[in-house]
Amino acid sequence: MIRIPFNRPFATGDELGYIRAAIAAPKFSGDGSFTVQCHTLLEQSLGAQKALLTTSCTHALEMAALLLDVGPGDEVIVPSFAFPSAANAFVLRGAKPVFVDVRADTLNIDENQIDRRITKRTKAIFLVHYAGVSCEMDTILSIAHRHGIAVVEDNAHGLYGKYRGRYLGTFGELATLSFHETKNFSCGEGGALLINDAQFNERAEILREKGTDRSRFFRGEIDKYTWVDVGSSYLPSDLLAAFLRAQLEHRDQIQSRRQQIWETYARELGAWAEANRVRLPIVPLECEQTYHMFYVIMPSVESRQALISHLAGYGILSVFHYLPLHLSPMGLRFGGRQGDCPVTEDLSDRLLRFPFFTGMSSSEQGQVIDAVRAFRC
Ligand SMILES: *Cc1c(COP(=O)(O)O)cnc(C)c1O
Repeated sequence: MIRIPFNRPFATGDELGYIRAAIAAPKFSGDGSFTVQCHTLLEQSLGAQKALLTTSCTHALEMAALLLDVGPGDEVIVPSFAFPSAANAFVLRGAKPVFVDVRADTLNIDENQIDRRITKRTKAIFLVHYAGVSCEMDTILSIAHRHGIAVVEDNAHGLYGKYRGRYLGTFGELATLSFHETKNFSCGEGGALLINDAQFNERAEILREKGTDRSRFFRGEIDKYTWVDVGSSYLPSDLLAAFLRAQLEHRDQIQSRRQQIWETYARELGAWAEANRVRLPIVPLECEQTYHMFYVIMPSVESRQALISHLAGYGILSVFHYLPLHLSPMGLRFGGRQGDCPVTEDLSDRLLRFPFFTGMSSSEQGQVIDAVRAFRC
């Protein structure tokens, strides 16, 4: 029986009141007042040029691929250690993902391996700030500028993380956020597109509104709306935005509790890790992380499996993470081969994540720590 889950959704207490207000409002479809409030909150707190709530991070990534006009024959640089949505967004447009290995310290795309994978057909560099620890943005941006290609940040883990003092999600032309239940800030299912280059603003609104100029119509800029471009329905109901507003407003409470949990794991497991050749997360000095998850790198795939079973015996659910995309059934179809991304192949076999959620009690965390310390590699 599971006594301590990997994740448990967290509510701040203000969600129901806001949802009631949304229900009482004249409309609770997309782009109602709570959605606008979330846009403003995100734009002002991040210093982002424009934020648009979406139905998921996956959909925001699909919008990014559409906005960049990625099409058949194009290539997009993608870290092999990532969520499938990233590759899919570009594959849906007929493009080919070109997988790049990750750094052994942060598990982020290895900036030193990007340049040699760029060809005339490369349209964009896609990256994930894994665990809310930033990629090496100075190097990546300079490569992108040199080749005249776009950067898309998947910042599903990294809302309010920083690189050299600047918020993640404000570096690439486009960036995405996730508000899935497992993320620091959530509304069950949801996401956002951050637009840092204003040339994309108008088209992003159109793609998100089924290929119509309905957003301009609602603002009174035109007297009827019509079909003007491709698009889909990427805007969430205002009920979800009402839930999300409560979460975003409790940023300090959520982040400080998560910081406490993360630091307790790091402190209490330090000696155990050293004695058992287990590696704890590494956060480079220039990065301010978001306390999204706590993972360890075990000495071997066998010891990882043994620790998963050991913790399961205590009713504690621990989970591994991304399988290498280049070796997945889809990745193989794009020419992926064993050995292409050795760091990803190695670390994805040995990485293990411990229960980590905002509402985790000290007693729950104490039980996880005691159970982990009882394990010997
Ligand atoms: C959770 C996650 C996604 C998918 O987010 P959804 O909102 O569920 O679509 C994409 N990328 C990363 C890195 C994620 O962690």
